[in-house]
Amino acid sequence: MIKWKQCMFGAVLAGAVCMNMPQAAFAYDVPEMIEVGLESVCKNATSASIGSSQLAVGTLKNDKFREDGTISSSGGFTAKMVRGEVIRITDSMSQKEAEDLAYSLRRTGFDASCGYLGNDDWTVYVQNSSRSEVESASKKSAERISSFNGICLSGGGENLLMVSNDVDYGFSGTDDTFTINGKQYRGCLRFAVNGTVMTAVNVVDLEEYLYGVIPAEMPASYGEEALKAQTLAARTYAMTKLNAHKGSGYELCDTINCQVYKGYSGENSKTNAIVDETEGEIICYNGTPIEAVFSASTGGYTENSENVWNSVVPYLRAVPEVGEYGNNTWTKTLTLSQLDSLLSAKGENIGSAQDIVITKISTGGRVQEMKIVGTSGSVTLTKENIRTYFPVPAAVCPVRCSRSTEKAAILLPAVDLCSVRQPRAAVQVL
Ligand SMILES: [Zn+2]
Repeated sequence: MIKWKQCMFGAVLAGAVCMNMPQAAFAYDVPEMIEVGLESVCKNATSASIGSSQLAVGTLKNDKFREDGTISSSGGFTAKMVRGEVIRITDSMSQKEAEDLAYSLRRTGFDASCGYLGNDDWTVYVQNSSRSEVESASKKSAERISSFNGICLSGGGENLLMVSNDVDYGFSGTDDTFTINGKQYRGCLRFAVNGTVMTAVNVVDLEEYLYGVIPAEMPASYGEEALKAQTLAARTYAMTKLNAHKGSGYELCDTINCQVYKGYSGENSKTNAIVDETEGEIICYNGTPIEAVFSASTGGYTENSENVWNSVVPYLRAVPEVGEYGNNTWTKTLTLSQLDSLLSAKGENIGSAQDIVITKISTGGRVQEMKIVGTSGSVTLTKENIRTYFPVPAAVCPVRCSRSTEKAAILLPAVDLCSVRQPRAAVQVL
């Protein structure tokens, strides 16, 4: 189900520009529901703990959940991967019939559980038995599935429900939230199975997703207008990055790789109200949602897009960040031998480094190009390479050069700094 909303005007932290155009030009589709891989709580796992004592089981088609039944376990559930040969009762039945048959088979020693086939069709799966044994015990025809791939939910020491990967299933907590590995979420739960492991996926309303994103990306104690700008950036970012994890079976992940999402457990009433107040508002340029990149810190100045990546994006221009406060100066000092080792590890064989010459600096004050001169050659690093050649964490901002001639340092806003100083490095910078 897709609904469209109209773009409102806002400013993104990275310095976006919104052109004043007739509102009709801003019609586009905003997804109502999104699929978030809960990588921070259950990624590539073989089992997971679901804290809810009751789960609604249903079909998730086009991100719409239709409940077909419920399963209960006072101590919660364990979800486990199931792969390999299983026996399935051929005829589908009601949930009650499937649960009764599975129960009676378990009483006679079979490893049986109720199975959900989608669209309110249920069956019984039996593991570690032959087709003839199951047919004889159940008095029903059964079939052998040689390569079942799915999950099993167990509780109270018994297998309660098996679902194949091929089914568009979903689980929902009866109070509209569920708990997985100790974290609570709104919306529905399913698992994306990749080979022998699974990742939990939260299918959730986009606005409810933002409830769990905003306070994780910006402290809720910040000013309302800053939180509104963050909300518009986060909403725009989400709807333009829906293919980020398609290959893994979901759209976005819940880590810094996309946007940090902490679900219901991370919500705050102040930021929830701001999400509600700005519902459906995103940031556009010439009628198209922008690439709303943002970072924790700009180091006092943002950067032109082409100085970080490759293409010129008209709304991503270097601007001073007047509100930036705190210490924007970071340093990282490398000895000469450390510098030599780093270059060598990157396959740059220039002998021993003798000098660093900065040849190009951007408007925002970041080093765009620098040449490292060694005893037997030299290497020129540009843009992102300057940052990635040195052992510093990932950041949106590239290397920035200090304008101070006293401190000959190469600055990395929001992350470590790489500085090369005499006499420790025996290299002159600037
Ligand atoms: Zn991601």
